[in-house]
Amino acid sequence: MDTKKYKEALEKELELLTKELKGIGVVGGENPDDWVAKSGIGTINDDDKSDDNDNADDLEELGERNAIVSDLEIRFRNVKEALKRIEDGTYGMCEVSGHPIEEDRLEANPAATTCKEHMNG
Ligand SMILES: [Zn+2]
Repeated sequence: MDTKKYKEALEKELELLTKELKGIGVVGGENPDDWVAKSGIGTINDDDKSDDNDNADDLEELGERNAIVSDLEIRFRNVKEALKRIEDGTYGMCEVSGHPIEEDRLEANPAATTCKEHMNG
């Protein structure tokens, strides 16, 4: 399989996801793939930091940000793993059946780990 175009697509996506993650989160631990939402960013509350009544709102907002970070983080890891599989030479194989993943599926989602038959399980 010609993995070059998938590699390029994945690298582009990784760059994008990294940018998004850096905008909303920070690396949370020793593992560079662990992200947590930044606290105290957010354009809405920047003006009234001194107002104690906003603490609850801040927490709620942080919770929402954490949900977004988790979602981005999953995609970030999937893309990284796909890039690793390209290097290992195992890219494009269904992790359930071991069969090659359909090219049109990979074109739609280069980080796919399963063929169409197993994509929902
Ligand atoms: Zn399969």
